[in-house]
Amino acid sequence: MPNARRTLIAGNWKMNGLRQSKAELRGMAAGAEALAVELLVCPPVTLLAAFAADVAGTRLMIGAQDCHPAESGAHTGDVSAEMLKDAGAVAVILGHSERRADHQEGDAIVKAKVKAAWRTGLLPIVCVGETLAEREADEAAAIVTRQVRQSVPDGASAANLVIAYEPIWAIGTGRTPTTDDVAQIHGTIRHVLAERFGGEADGIRILYGGSVKPDNAATLLATPDVDGALVGGASLKAADFLAIARAA
Ligand code: PGA
Repeated sequence: MPNARRTLIAGNWKMNGLRQSKAELRGMAAGAEALAVELLVCPPVTLLAAFAADVAGTRLMIGAQDCHPAESGAHTGDVSAEMLKDAGAVAVILGHSERRADHQEGDAIVKAKVKAAWRTGLLPIVCVGETLAEREADEAAAIVTRQVRQSVPDGASAANLVIAYEPIWAIGTGRTPTTDDVAQIHGTIRHVLAERFGGEADGIRILYGGSVKPDNAATLLATPDVDGALVGGASLKAADFLAIARAA
């Protein structure tokens, strides 16, 4: 079957960016017009509404980095999927390894957050990936299989789910797995999705994340079953982020 999956290049700004970062955003929005791929930037929540207003009418999409499972209520400091949507987000990163580590988020909470994203019409980008110790113990496929099985609720489809495979040891380190290793894990993820969602799994995009840079993007993005990238550090500068998108 031909690959009908549209490449998605998503930028995760993490806890970076102030109002002055709009200059980079505008560069990205201008560059997005000529791209064949979809381009998404996920700034910190403080910038979300302003960024979404700024890029309205361009091909650059704005997303968030997390949400609370509930719609509203007594959850001091938290932000709901409804609020993100209201601010102009179209997507939300969920289960990033930094949230799994810093906020003790397990698969069950990630699954509840995916349901919140669906309730609101946000596209969830569900992150999975193994630690270095798990990789060295040859457990990467088993860990990722468990995370995909337990973090994704019933009812996933090509239109409402994106998975991001991010080996934790590759995030922010400049190290990347071999393309064989990436292809193997992405193939495993697609197989796990097919077990539950049948032919729908063929259309679900699986991004690679972890030290994606302009100089390795073409190789990583040409790897079988890699349908885009989740980019951290290199998504902060328009020139680097657009170079990655152009390499796709
Ligand atoms: P990195 O981060 O590109 O800086 O390695 C990727 C991520 O954590 O999403």
